[in-house]
Amino acid sequence: MSEQMKAIVVERLGPPDVMELREVPRPEPKAGEVRLKVEAVGVNFADVLAVAGEYLTRTRVPYTPGMELAGTVEALGEGVSGVQLGQRVAALGGSGGLAEYATVPAAGLIPVPESFSAAQAAAFPVSYMTAYLALKTLGRGQEGEWVLVQAAAGALGTASTQLAKALGMRVIALASTEEKLDIARSLGADVTILQDDPERVKKVRAAAGGQGVPLILEVVGGSRFPESLEMAANRGRIVFIGNASREDAQLHPAALMKRNLTVTGLWLTSLLTDPATAQEAAAGLAPLIASGRVTPQVGPTYPLSRSAQAFQDILDRKTTGKVIVEPQRS
Ligand code: NDP
Repeated sequence: MSEQMKAIVVERLGPPDVMELREVPRPEPKAGEVRLKVEAVGVNFADVLAVAGEYLTRTRVPYTPGMELAGTVEALGEGVSGVQLGQRVAALGGSGGLAEYATVPAAGLIPVPESFSAAQAAAFPVSYMTAYLALKTLGRGQEGEWVLVQAAAGALGTASTQLAKALGMRVIALASTEEKLDIARSLGADVTILQDDPERVKKVRAAAGGQGVPLILEVVGGSRFPESLEMAANRGRIVFIGNASREDAQLHPAALMKRNLTVTGLWLTSLLTDPATAQEAAAGLAPLIASGRVTPQVGPTYPLSRSAQAFQDILDRKTTGKVIVEPQRS
């Protein structure tokens, strides 16, 4: 009989409590794959949506969630070269992370800077690659320009704030509590505004010199989206990254025409299928990591057995930074 391990298994889609901790066979790496001893898993809002069956792709069950993980290489599949046993790596894939061991394609392994802990390594790929592609590649952000960061104390929000500042931009941060705004300020946000402030639209426009904001990273969507259109500057760019409200957004063409706005969608998974785009983000981020100007913000950490709680806390907006599950911790 194959060796067993603990893993989270989802058999039917729904709220976080559909996630069950089970003993399952430890996976064997196929040709071209490696097996990782999983030290840390970055839990993304996308994981919550995938378990709920509301993600951009269909979730096939049964499955083990966990798209972003870090650990050590523990076994090599046939034909794998250039990877050492014991090497610390991160990986980005569709699923499988929330387990003591996971198999991932060797070709997709992400090297981990020595200075990063396992939790930081798992906190990095999704949020920082997305932030870079939103700010620079799709958002065409310029030094000195204002950018509006929503949910600024979250995983993507902290990455976007830190990165925008490192790229010389000026940040207006929105978040739901004063404690969250403190985090945004600690990362360099120039202006912070409560997202339920009744004067928020006026305050955001005023903060950007009364002209509105040239670049908006939209992660809430729904009934908040029309406000983003009002907050935008003439010829402003809005990068639609997330829809945390889980509501449909209305888009009236007149609002786009009035201020000559551009609205762009961003999905990291599909962007990274273009090697040149992936390379551009990696090359843009590398010097900022090496100089210590961007460091992943690790939020609350949970053992594997409390993964469902981690998911629920994200949904309840209780978390800041990147939520981490540590499968080797009991
Ligand atoms: P976060 O750590 O930012 O957690 C989500 C945050 O969204 C909450 O803390 C909360 O911040 C805010 N929020 C606003 N409205 C709601 C709501 N109705 N329910 C719950 N939360 C709400 O998560 P991530 O960094 O993982 O993701 C942030 C957003 O970016 C998500 O929409 C996600 O899907 C998207 N994303 C998209 C990617 C892509 O490739 N397109 C890649 C990465 C992230 P507050 O309390 O301050 O409002």
